[in-house]
Amino acid sequence: MYALRLPAKALLILVSLFFVCEARRATAQSCGARGVAVQVLGSGGPELEDKRASSSYLVWENGKARVMVDAGGGSALRFGESDAKMSEVDIFLFSHFHIDHSGDFPALIFSSWFEDRKHPLPIFGPPGNEYMPSTTEFVGDLFSEPHGAWRYLSDLVTPDSPGGYQLQPHNVDAGAVPVVVFRNSELAVYAVRVIHGAFPALAWRVEIGGKRIVFSGDTNGEGEGLTLLATNADIFVAHNAVPEGATGVERRLHMPPSVIGTIAGNAHVKQLVLSHRMLRTLGKEKETQVEIRRRYSGPMAFANDLDCFPLK
Ligand SMILES: [Zn+2]
Repeated sequence: MYALRLPAKALLILVSLFFVCEARRATAQSCGARGVAVQVLGSGGPELEDKRASSSYLVWENGKARVMVDAGGGSALRFGESDAKMSEVDIFLFSHFHIDHSGDFPALIFSSWFEDRKHPLPIFGPPGNEYMPSTTEFVGDLFSEPHGAWRYLSDLVTPDSPGGYQLQPHNVDAGAVPVVVFRNSELAVYAVRVIHGAFPALAWRVEIGGKRIVFSGDTNGEGEGLTLLATNADIFVAHNAVPEGATGVERRLHMPPSVIGTIAGNAHVKQLVLSHRMLRTLGKEKETQVEIRRRYSGPMAFANDLDCFPLK
């Protein structure tokens, strides 16, 4: 009797394990399988103590990650966990070049080196100043000969290199009114300059599959540009890096919840996602929500790594 029952039990366990594994795999692949979705790869800021990857997002359409925004530390691993393929990413957008937005970029590019990507990867980001490289300088400082840190991959930035796969960085000198930066038959991308202390920074709007997706990037929310960019957005991903009442440098760099709420409300966004959660805002979700609710009444969520927001 036992001889028969034990194998049956073992078989049952094996079958269950198979389905659990398959379910996990299905969950990992489920973001954006149909229609348009935004996936948060990194919901944290620079602090590793928060156990979150730093700022990074994917825009999915019908099972493909078409647009990537930022690549903070930890995002390369999350990218792998999301089952996205670098060879399928149409364009890469940088909000700015603080490490928590760009630190994993070389890891992603080296991974893509092993994929069968033949077409160029356009990369858009801000111009530089005395504190930050421009987008072309950033990519060049990583991969160009003779001084690039990883010049062994200089084929990636050498025009007409034999591999065919090229990084094509562009500096986007956007002003306070949104401008179109990239357009093909399926997607359009707009940028506006935002204020992030002394650091050149951009907010981005991606239009794909009839949806408008807006990323604030890091900004103190000054000016009308972000509100214009976010007008009627299907989803607005805003950075919740400082609590209400922040002052000094923190406030010069980031927008408190009241400012996020004002922008979301004035722009009539259909959904608000709060990301770039730092130790100083984690645990203050209730207070944050109260401030935002005074100014914006639509759906809102606090993001965690790998969260997927399908757009209906
Ligand atoms: Zn940041």
